[in-house]
Amino acid sequence: MISLAAVHAYIAVHLISWHVFGIEIWGKTAMMGVPSLAKGWINAASIMVILILLSIFIFGRGFCGWVCHMRGAIEFADWILRKLKVQQYLNVRERNVLVNTQHRWLLRVGALFVLLLPVIILVHNVGFTPRVDVMSPPPVADLPGYEGQAFAKTAPFNFSIQANWHDFLLAFGLAVFIQFTMSVVLNLRYGHGAFCRILCPYATMMVPLMNISPVQSKITRVAQCTGCRDCSNACPQGIDVSREIFHFNGKVINRECIKCYACIDACDDHVLRDTSAPAVAQTDRLKPYEKRPWQQELVRKDGYRTDARHMQVYEPLGPVTDFLSIIVALVAGGISSRFGGFWFYPGAIFAFILFRDAALRSSRQIAKWQGQHKI
Ligand code: SF4
Ligand code: SF4
Ligand code: SF4
Repeated sequence: MISLAAVHAYIAVHLISWHVFGIEIWGKTAMMGVPSLAKGWINAASIMVILILLSIFIFGRGFCGWVCHMRGAIEFADWILRKLKVQQYLNVRERNVLVNTQHRWLLRVGALFVLLLPVIILVHNVGFTPRVDVMSPPPVADLPGYEGQAFAKTAPFNFSIQANWHDFLLAFGLAVFIQFTMSVVLNLRYGHGAFCRILCPYATMMVPLMNISPVQSKITRVAQCTGCRDCSNACPQGIDVSREIFHFNGKVINRECIKCYACIDACDDHVLRDTSAPAVAQTDRLKPYEKRPWQQELVRKDGYRTDARHMQVYEPLGPVTDFLSIIVALVAGGISSRFGGFWFYPGAIFAFILFRDAALRSSRQIAKWQGQHKI
């Protein structure tokens, strides 16, 4: 948490030093990295993305758990929702209920494609024009208020943002609203860290690089496990840690592990450590876990499909409706992204939630109607 807070302090210092004091250190180091790389532009952002991807070979997805500013926002949202005692969230959080979609990969890959679409069009129209400029783009590029406008130039409507406190707060408020949907709204609806589990396009680049390097550190069993499963029940990514270390030579090999260390903190027996060293052999006898793949589910009476231990819960939506909800989200996100790249997320998230809620309500009503009419 200190590390994630420090990242936000860095962002604040960077913005203030650049825009208030005119100390230009380097350009924007955030989501511009992937589009920059796609355009062949070497800038601070694309260097950061290259470093993040290389770091996977040593630390796994340690960037996610320790450095990602979005993860910081997600953890902050989690803390706020618990402090405010939002009952809906407490119900979810107490049992670590994590709702997911069976087609989450489609959503993530689709999100990456939609966000890169302007670059693909640019490269198609103008050609590949590589260049090196670590000072470009400036830190607030693609955020509300950039170039004195509330939204991107492609937005169907716009208004100017002046250099005064009133307008600064307005632009800041719009940026916070985007963050709010990605962290608070998704956490509330789909459980802790839903953005990382369902939507983050970065994951599509990180996951293929996991478990390649022999020196990559992993969550590892370093003492005798009792099989209590506290670690599994604490994992915000829905990984069955206990089963992983039982079946995979004492290692968590799941590619969704973001190194948040919630499992390490949850284990009172100090069984887990993040290391590339071999695991300690399990000599104490444990009741064997079924070697079911991660997220394979059981069907509950109310139709929800879940692991018995609340690892991941699938909403009772059929595969077609699930698939359609993702298409609806991507189309809505594509439309809203005309207001600026980050506006993809509010459009996609609200469309995703509203469509799925409507589908759930209608399926329940159909079931009720069928029950009443004994169909
Ligand atoms: S999955 Fe995405 S949002 Fe989540 S921590 Fe990793 S990079 Fe950040
Ligand atoms: S690793 Fe620790 S928390 Fe997890 S099942 Fe074993 S003893 Fe329990
Ligand atoms: S709780 Fe453990 S297994 Fe789950 S994401 Fe965090 S570090 Fe990885």
